[in-house]
Amino acid sequence: MARLLVVEDEVLVARDIQGRLQRLGYEVVGSAAKGEEAVEMARNLVPDLVLMDINLRGDIDGIEAAIQINEVESIPIIFCTAYSSAEILERAKITSPFGYVLKPFDNRELEINIQIALFKHRVERDLAETKQNLDSTLSHVSDGVIAADDSGRIFLINPIAEKIVGCESGNGTGKNLDEILRLEGFEAGQASINLMDPETFAFWKQFSGIRQRLTRFDGRKVPIELSANFLEEDANLTVITFRDISQQLGYEETIQRNAFFDGLTELPNRALFVDRLEGSINRRKRGGRPGQFSVLFIGLDGFTVINEGFGHDAGDMVINQIGQRIAKTIRPDDTVSRFSGEIFALLLDPVEAVTGSIQACQRILSAVQEPISVQDSTLNITASVGIVVNNGEYLSADQMLQDVDTALHRAKSDTHGSYVVFDNARYEDAVRFIDRKNGMQKAIVQGDFEVHYQPIVSLETGKLAAMEALVRWPHPEEGMVSPAEFIPIAEATGLILPLGEYVLHSVCDQIKRWNDQGLSGFRVAVNFSARQFEVDVAALVRTALSSAGIEPTQLAMEITEGLAMKNVNRNTEMLADIRKLGVNISMDDFGAGYSSFSYLKRFPLTTLKIDRSFIKDIHENEEDKRITRAIIAMGQSLNLATQAKGVENDEQLEILREYGCDCIQGFYYSKPLPASQMTEYLLEGAA
Ligand code: C2E
Ligand code: MG
Repeated sequence: MARLLVVEDEVLVARDIQGRLQRLGYEVVGSAAKGEEAVEMARNLVPDLVLMDINLRGDIDGIEAAIQINEVESIPIIFCTAYSSAEILERAKITSPFGYVLKPFDNRELEINIQIALFKHRVERDLAETKQNLDSTLSHVSDGVIAADDSGRIFLINPIAEKIVGCESGNGTGKNLDEILRLEGFEAGQASINLMDPETFAFWKQFSGIRQRLTRFDGRKVPIELSANFLEEDANLTVITFRDISQQLGYEETIQRNAFFDGLTELPNRALFVDRLEGSINRRKRGGRPGQFSVLFIGLDGFTVINEGFGHDAGDMVINQIGQRIAKTIRPDDTVSRFSGEIFALLLDPVEAVTGSIQACQRILSAVQEPISVQDSTLNITASVGIVVNNGEYLSADQMLQDVDTALHRAKSDTHGSYVVFDNARYEDAVRFIDRKNGMQKAIVQGDFEVHYQPIVSLETGKLAAMEALVRWPHPEEGMVSPAEFIPIAEATGLILPLGEYVLHSVCDQIKRWNDQGLSGFRVAVNFSARQFEVDVAALVRTALSSAGIEPTQLAMEITEGLAMKNVNRNTEMLADIRKLGVNISMDDFGAGYSSFSYLKRFPLTTLKIDRSFIKDIHENEEDKRITRAIIAMGQSLNLATQAKGVENDEQLEILREYGCDCIQGFYYSKPLPASQMTEYLLEGAA
């Protein structure tokens, strides 16, 4: 039963209408006499229909009330009016009324009007709902949907369709199909579909999933897959659905390409390279191909600097250009691959052994070195190259790759732009180097290193004047490893920094223990490598002294001439700081190797230690005698103490005494001793 609201300001008329409506079988949910009242009741009761008198007393009339009701609810309204002036009816139109009945009205007229209004309203509502459902469905489907009439005029296009073709939202409606869908054949030779020609259209409509290339509004071409439905019963309605398949195609292609080619340079990737290398090895094994072949690893030098300084896009650009340059230098049968990061790999097969490989390498190095412009700068890039030649001894790709990698590493540690041909002897060196480095690292962490002490004796008093601290590495498998072997590795790897600090602290702590036992009056000299001056070595010394609680006058530092080779100003300043503390500074191995003594003026030295090479044969060799005598004389004139190293016998000792050397150190008195034995030595009263 329909629910009606009656709006009528004449009470008697209102009652009459109510009675009639009820008799006609309607429910009257309310009756309003004023416009405002009508609006409120309509909003609260939400009737199925309002019967509205146009002329109402009060502020607003029936037309205004209808407008206000429709602002909130869509309720069909029938106007009732006693007279129908053209002007009033014109005004009433803006409310799109569902009907008019003229007063006085008969029941039949009233009923027909009400029924038509209710029906019309229901249809409108259903239609709106359907349209809304359709709209939301179409805007949610992932395909583009276009519907056109038989002349090809588009009357429906969803947002996805507009997005794919690249036209502005809402602009597709009203256009012709061929304006919106500009198609051409997808594969070479395939015809485009003429959407405006019913015959060709009819031909392919039976196929679905046809691939065509679509020209978007911005001119870009995208591959699409489309299906068409031709609904002939429905006034030749054409419905086309389509989707952008560039991603999908991209995936298909990339899956293919990714497996074997590098995305940036489009060169073969590691997988394809290894595959080809295995091919070369297997052909040799089967005896299918004679001769040698080689693998080169080409690593760009300082590539991280480019990446960090210019950004990764610039880095990519450089990689790409270099890749193309390398590719141009090789023969068609050879393989160049972007192996990883900034490393390219080359398989030269066949090759004239080492000579051929080196020739290829030189071509590559000069191609790489051509200037390259990155942003506003011109870069000169160099590469290092590792080379390994297979004379038949390699039976696996892995082994060959491992060796070429080692060669590349060696080349990288040489000057930039160099190449290294792998050979086994060097390989063993490298393995030992890495093994030592790892072992040392572990030993530093575990505190395995020991410090031994060797007395330095005054020739004047015959008593202990100082001692030298010498580090020892008791290796778990190899016994004591000589510092002559591990110090150079520690220097090369930078491990000398933690190791040097460790030695300095253990020496200072040991001095403190001796002090506590009443043993003092001597300096302990600690060896420092030039690399330790890369950090604030003066601060390290201060910390070690203060944390052990000993006097700077109990410590001496042994430096080498290498310190005068680099950063002389900085090193001089640091030495001055240390000397100012009261720490003695000895120039170790004096006279060995370095011809300019200019540092003697600059460095705040206290002592010269005469190199063992002069002392060794001093008793038999006139030249050594002369040099040693000159060094001692020079020390005296510069007010520097002199110490001779490696004294092993009486003859050497007597010569040194005669020349006026201050102190001697060597097996003649004692070998370097562990701290405990040194303590005994001191307690025996050597000091
Ligand atoms: P060095 O500073 O020249 O140390 C003297 C070396 O000569 C020591 O070798 C010592 O054992 C050896 N020696 C002493 N008396 C004689 C002798 O009468 N005859 C012979 N043939 N040799 C004698 P060691 O202990 O093998 O040390 C080798 C080098 O390792 C040292 O040479 C020093 O340059 C370096 N070194 C040792 N400990 C450290 C350290 O803690 N830090 C640094 N940076 N280098 C160290
Ligand atoms: Mg020394």
